[in-house]
Amino acid sequence: MVYDLQLKNVGKVYDNGTPAVIDFNLDVEKGEFIAFLGPSGCGKSTTLRMISGFETVTSGDLLIRGKRVNDQLPEKRPTSMIFQNYALFPHMNVRQNVRFGLEVKGMSKPEADKKVDGILDKLGLLDISEMPTSRLSGGQRQRIALARSLVVEPDILLLDEPLGALDANLRKSIQNELKLLQRDLGITFVFVTHAQSEALALSDRIIVMNAGRVEQISPPRELYTRPKSEFVARFIGSNTLIPGTVLKSDAETITLDTAFGAISGTNRINLTEAKGQNMSIVLPAEAVELVPGDTKEGELRKTFGNNVIPCRIDRLQVVGHIMQMLVSLENGDTIHIEGHVDKYRNRLKVGTSAYVGWQSSGASVIGQ
Ligand code: ADP
Ligand code: MG
Repeated sequence: MVYDLQLKNVGKVYDNGTPAVIDFNLDVEKGEFIAFLGPSGCGKSTTLRMISGFETVTSGDLLIRGKRVNDQLPEKRPTSMIFQNYALFPHMNVRQNVRFGLEVKGMSKPEADKKVDGILDKLGLLDISEMPTSRLSGGQRQRIALARSLVVEPDILLLDEPLGALDANLRKSIQNELKLLQRDLGITFVFVTHAQSEALALSDRIIVMNAGRVEQISPPRELYTRPKSEFVARFIGSNTLIPGTVLKSDAETITLDTAFGAISGTNRINLTEAKGQNMSIVLPAEAVELVPGDTKEGELRKTFGNNVIPCRIDRLQVVGHIMQMLVSLENGDTIHIEGHVDKYRNRLKVGTSAYVGWQSSGASVIGQ
């Protein structure tokens, strides 16, 4: 199979010696929506710029549709890039901005006009096509930047935090538009963001980066419920980590000896023969249940097995149909829990003792 985009052990060391990207490996299929997610400075933009050709690759190979492009100029690559500040030309109107890329390519005027009209129409910009871009709103400018990148019909669209400058409501609606547009066009999108909600909402797969390295590559749901490292568990979602040492493991379950006794999670890492090794149980907020302190021991065991920890209820808050609960464990750790109001209403009281419990299948185990 020919991938749209491949990074093979790609690395970047800047001239000043900064190692910005280390040993990056990724295969992207045509039409995938990929997000690079990670804290500021982890190497997202550098990677995107290497794909576009605006930055050189210092080690490894970069392939677009099976062809090595390490040394190919940006304008020769079938990629197009949208920057955070859109980089529109303020002295040109909307149409001129969108036409610009085609003129650079030397396309004939009638052909360019046809393509520009097509994309302006698709993005709902025909009505404002003669307006100077400096007079337009953030959302409109965003759409113009998109039109300008798409009019050249790239195979791969690269977007560097394209929604960062917009307010929250607008961001949400443009997110939806972007997703629909991407499905409609069927081209590959590589999207950089430091906002997990954006990555989770938009992408088919998320690449979590940390200090220049790839931490995990997973579809959103899996990343959320099955983090593979402590960094991902703390960066994504709302997880509680409980450290311990391995007591036993079989094909399904790993049991750790912890400050709260023996507790278990699913064995998703094919752990065998690791008794005594330091590891952590990861509890996603949505896998944890809260039960009142007067629940019978037998009932607790039946539902949760050994996965029960005493706690104290610190806060209960109803938000719409969701009950948000904050509890603290004996060691002072706090856990956020969320559940449907119908399940919890009138059963719990702030200041009382209770239990948190989970099924092993809802929890993972990661190395420390
Ligand atoms: P992100 O987009 O994830 O915030 P960047 O790719 O911009 O991260 O930066 C990754 C690292 O490379 C950072 O340490 C940053 O300071 C450094 N860096 C980025 N651009 C340059 C440059 N032109 N010269 C030297 N170092 C750079
Ligand atoms: Mg950046």
